[in-house]
Amino acid sequence: SIPLGFFSGIGAASKRGILVKGGNHLEALQQLDTVVFDKTGTLTEGVFEVVELKAVHGSEDELLRVAATVEQHSNHPIAKSIQRMYARHASVSTAVQDYQEVAGSGVTGRFGTDQIQAGNARWFKELGLTPLDQTEDGTYVHVAQNDSYLGFIRIADRIKDTTVEALDGLKALGIRQTIMLTGDRRETAEQIGRQIGITQVKAELLPDQKVEQLEAILYQANGRVAFVGDGINDAPVLTRADVGIAMGGLGSDVAIEAADVVLMTDEPKQLVEAIRIARATRRIVY
Ligand code: ADP
Ligand code: MG
Repeated sequence: SIPLGFFSGIGAASKRGILVKGGNHLEALQQLDTVVFDKTGTLTEGVFEVVELKAVHGSEDELLRVAATVEQHSNHPIAKSIQRMYARHASVSTAVQDYQEVAGSGVTGRFGTDQIQAGNARWFKELGLTPLDQTEDGTYVHVAQNDSYLGFIRIADRIKDTTVEALDGLKALGIRQTIMLTGDRRETAEQIGRQIGITQVKAELLPDQKVEQLEAILYQANGRVAFVGDGINDAPVLTRADVGIAMGGLGSDVAIEAADVVLMTDEPKQLVEAIRIARATRRIVY
């Protein structure tokens, strides 16, 4: 192919919906050894559907209402999905006080005199709540009210249409390893990992542990390391990688600002295109 200067490389990328914020990032993409991915919203759509509602106290409608009430202020893909599910029934009351988002765990807040939590099993156990066993596929959102366990909402996400194509493309380009870092539970993460053919899966990570994992990956890499994420609970990892890549559509504004490269259509296969363009590009030395 025709050698392009870094300026024309950036132009060629932008025509394909890939925003590259400087020639140095194209150079880093030429030397890529490892690509690390966030799962939710990056490899998967981040748009969950309810698979099962299980109430141990009260009705299933009540369970969904309690969850939707406490999730209404969160931008997490899980929260947005629960908001959407409940909006089909009714609108949520807005009076949540002492709202707190616990990154990688869940959300908590007070509605009237009721203290509510919605989040994962690890966090519920830490809070002294006893969640039901997670025996099926998918992501479990456990719900509690006033220290009493109400039940769970089991939800499922879809792998993006171009995820497998992207991982195959990276392999074909000689990228040595692809790694998933996720806060989701191990069974779900590993199942998705097998379906898409990723080299390694590291699951059940808190936001700090994602940073530690990335640092270990940087240390043992034979070249540059890219991280691809949506910025929800992974912005620190995005800034730590040699090349931070954000999803432009689904991603948070913070991620888009912090990133070196933005994939405007949210398709993982755009990364393969970005590497091809980078490799066709030469630094012009004056
Ligand atoms: P990922 O690495 O898959 O993007 P996160 O680090 O954002 O995941 O979250 C990890 C886990 O924490 C989720 O799988 C979920 O169990 C729980 N969690 C995070 N935010 C929320 C929320 N708003 N509501 C319920 N659960 C949440
Ligand atoms: Mg995330």
